[in-house]
Amino acid sequence: MSAVGFFDQVNRMFEKAAAHTDHPPGLLRQIRICNSVYHMEFPLKRDDGSIKVIRAWRAEHSQHKLPVKGGIRYAMTVNEDEVMALAALMTYKCAVVNVPFGGAKGGIQINRREYSKSELERITRRYTFEMIRKNFIGPGIDVPAPDYGTGPQEMAWILDTYNSFSDNQLNALACVTGKPVGQGGVRGRNEATGLGVFYGVHQAFQYAEDMAKIGLTPGLQGKTVVIQGLGNVGYHAAKFMKEGGAVLVGFAEYEGAIHNPNGLDLEAVMAHRRETGSILDFPGATNLPQSKDALELPCDILIPAALEGQITTENAARIQAKVIAEAANGPVTADADAILLEKGVLIVPDAFLNAGGVTVSYFEWLRNLSHVRFGRLSKRFSMNTQIETLDAVETLTGKAFSADTRQRLARGGDEVELVYSGLEETMIGAYDEVRELALQHDVDLRTATFINAINKVAVSYLEMGIFP
Ligand code: NAD
Repeated sequence: MSAVGFFDQVNRMFEKAAAHTDHPPGLLRQIRICNSVYHMEFPLKRDDGSIKVIRAWRAEHSQHKLPVKGGIRYAMTVNEDEVMALAALMTYKCAVVNVPFGGAKGGIQINRREYSKSELERITRRYTFEMIRKNFIGPGIDVPAPDYGTGPQEMAWILDTYNSFSDNQLNALACVTGKPVGQGGVRGRNEATGLGVFYGVHQAFQYAEDMAKIGLTPGLQGKTVVIQGLGNVGYHAAKFMKEGGAVLVGFAEYEGAIHNPNGLDLEAVMAHRRETGSILDFPGATNLPQSKDALELPCDILIPAALEGQITTENAARIQAKVIAEAANGPVTADADAILLEKGVLIVPDAFLNAGGVTVSYFEWLRNLSHVRFGRLSKRFSMNTQIETLDAVETLTGKAFSADTRQRLARGGDEVELVYSGLEETMIGAYDEVRELALQHDVDLRTATFINAINKVAVSYLEMGIFP
């Protein structure tokens, strides 16, 4: 990370965009600052009986819409500045994809690999209890989700702890998203951020004139991709990029990086890592001297999907990718951003590109409040209507559809299909809106994303008025 803190980096990007708006300075400051931060320290009784003090935070950046929403991160890098920066990005992200939430983020400063499962459970439950005590969690207050180092298991523990103390059993399920499907999760949430990254990049590659500017043809077919971080977001982004026709040529994990210009088999690499504990020495691939070297590989699309501060003034000039697709939050520092833009790199920014997670979290929250699976009421009705239409066409034309075609055309939409299509619509709509603003103001996509978010949050404040 550079000497400038992460929250300051986000605010520099905010200021750059704010200059293109005409909102009063006081209102811009209110949008930019972080409303409240809860810093907690609590004891963990370890499996060996010793006591360890755990440091954790929950930041609520903007309550202009409630609940506020944002993931919970388990990592040694977690600190107050990081949580505030990530909460701010959540505010802008929600605004850009029209998810009616304010931004929040939580973090626990631990390396999860150093704790047993039962220790992680005790940490998660105590953290949840601390949030309950200070009114930092609830379906209409603040709704956490997974982030770096957490997943459905932690979300289930949070739900169960919240449930144990809640007197609002009816809506308690909506206190956290990213839950296992059996515990009120929605199908499609696990892969949502990576899938959203794919939809966003796919849409960027639809514009032939934008691609021509960076020397690429439109479409993802045959485009080479390097990915840093094969966790939830990176793995799924890789999977969908591959299915969309791209070629995966490089992967970086914390233990090292591998390269094969002819393509790497994602599932085989994952299996190799499960077997050997490392992606290194994968048959047919070259090991790179250092993990970070992968960022500098020749490729069309670089997808950083690990942590912030990966592309800095130190390595920005050596980046060869034509497109940087920011799946992680804050992977490019503000100074590196300027260098890359100068080089003509197209940066698809985090505050838009990784919003698939919060979008599907929003769907999960809606599902929890309505207590019904998406498609349950409409699926059979849609199918029957489509079958009647197909029958009518057959009667009128005297010709029959093949059984295969009938089956394909007469579908009602399962929950996962509805979630995917809602996500696709959201990402395409948001990209087009941001691109339009970029053209209008003659700015890069990140600045346009911030302009878009600032305008939406400002309108919300102006319409609501200020209490008291
Ligand atoms: P994760 O914990 O599932 O995966 C992160 C992966 O990155 C791990 O496999 C880890 O080993 C690897 N990694 C760590 N340091 C690395 C390094 N220096 N080089 C290479 N690899 C490294 O986390 P995630 O949920 O996939 O989150 C990744 C990023 O995406 C974070 O910035 C997070 O804030 C962002 N994000 C996540 C979500 C979500 O829904 N999970 C949503 C929006 C944004």
